[in-house]
Amino acid sequence: MRSISKNNVIYSFNPFIEPVVSVRPGETVRFETLDALGGQIENEQDVLKLDFSKVNPATGPVRIEGAKKGQTLVVEILDVSVASDKGVIVAEEGFGVLKNIVKGFKAKILPIRQGCVVFNEIHIPIKPMIGVIGVAPKEGEFPTGTAHKHGGNMDTKEITVGSRVHLPIFQDGAMLALGDVHAVMGDGEVCVSACEVPAVVTVRVDVEDVSIEWPMVETKEDIYILVSLPRIEEAFEQATYTAVKLLSEKKNMPIEEAYMLASLIVDVGVSQLVDPNLTVKAKISKAYLE
Ligand code: CA
Repeated sequence: MRSISKNNVIYSFNPFIEPVVSVRPGETVRFETLDALGGQIENEQDVLKLDFSKVNPATGPVRIEGAKKGQTLVVEILDVSVASDKGVIVAEEGFGVLKNIVKGFKAKILPIRQGCVVFNEIHIPIKPMIGVIGVAPKEGEFPTGTAHKHGGNMDTKEITVGSRVHLPIFQDGAMLALGDVHAVMGDGEVCVSACEVPAVVTVRVDVEDVSIEWPMVETKEDIYILVSLPRIEEAFEQATYTAVKLLSEKKNMPIEEAYMLASLIVDVGVSQLVDPNLTVKAKISKAYLE
């Protein structure tokens, strides 16, 4: 199995990122990942010396041999192991859903014991998930903290063990990078961060000869269309439209009918409300797409 050390990180996705390894479709790859703060916060005072140029590192990129632009990269998540006995959560004045609750920049170290994140006396079972996963975009430069059509910082809790992430390929070789594992996170990620942890992530990569516009995550039962845009209204609209279009194509029905059907079977929700682009997820049971 190919393994990529946490020393190989990128801080932005752009069309020209250089691979650190190449793998073939069907191969398994292990990524060591730093936490979203780049491992800089060991105790609660460390926020004062945080270097913001070192946040949101993503390990990679991995070139997938034979992957061509216009196809879809499928990343099957085989394992997400938390690589520390503690995580960190941060909140900053002016950020998050509630901008004025925190003064300045605060961090809290959260012990992880016996499969739980311990917040004061509250034990929260861990559900490790991948915050940042993406490929080289079509054009422009996206900091790893920003999500869009190439993936990136989608902070979607369904991106977890057993799921398959589908990413549109914009550059030959795809150039997959990932990081920003959370031990646990709620939908919205309201205070601007989750329980940020270093991790080891194992995935199998594959390429499908289909085109998609926005990333999707596929669980055992459902698919989620993931749309990340600067304004939440736009993200809801685009995610809904993408779901309606998919239903129209799969069920061979006029778009007006697919729109009505979507109103019965599509669940529209939020992944995160706090990154530079906000991520909305439209969920459809796979049973309706067969
Ligand atoms: Ca994140």
